[in-house]
Amino acid sequence: MAILELQIDDAPILRQKAAAVERIDDDLLQLIEDMFETMYAVEGIGLAAPQVGILQRVIIVDIEAHFCEYPLIALINPVITEAIGEELGEEGCLSLPGRRGIVRRAMEITVEGMLPNGKKIKFNADSLMARVVQHEIDHLNGILFIDRLIAEDQKLLEERKEEVEEGKDTRCKIQNTRCQPLES
Ligand SMILES: [Zn+2]
Repeated sequence: MAILELQIDDAPILRQKAAAVERIDDDLLQLIEDMFETMYAVEGIGLAAPQVGILQRVIIVDIEAHFCEYPLIALINPVITEAIGEELGEEGCLSLPGRRGIVRRAMEITVEGMLPNGKKIKFNADSLMARVVQHEIDHLNGILFIDRLIAEDQKLLEERKEEVEEGKDTRCKIQNTRCQPLES
């Protein structure tokens, strides 16, 4: 296991499209292990391979600390096959330290991909899980959350900050309590 170097800010690799994984081998499994170690070291909840300098379509997500029922997952060649609704939520990114923004994302998604054991998986995700998966898949296409910021949405972030400063913490507005178990 090793902690990998995070690609940040203007690193060119963050703007490149990652290639599909063609076979699962020891190098890939090692990469996934190292990605988990790297993500936990910086207390992240999701990470895509380009963020550690590898242009392959691999993402990991672990939101258990926030939302109980979604187990941690590593997904190879993930694809969103269905997207429903729209939801605003605050995001940051391990590759863009210190930056936050309100991003419009699909509320519920269906995701297909492969697990590290080679098994195909298809599952539905909502709330934070849907948001993180969409954010990480964006990384595989060279897209960062700052590309998706719409000026009028950012007012919400400002209002929220003011309310937090005034002691009216509105964090719960952006949270959602529904969780769905994974289905394979
Ligand atoms: Zn990110």
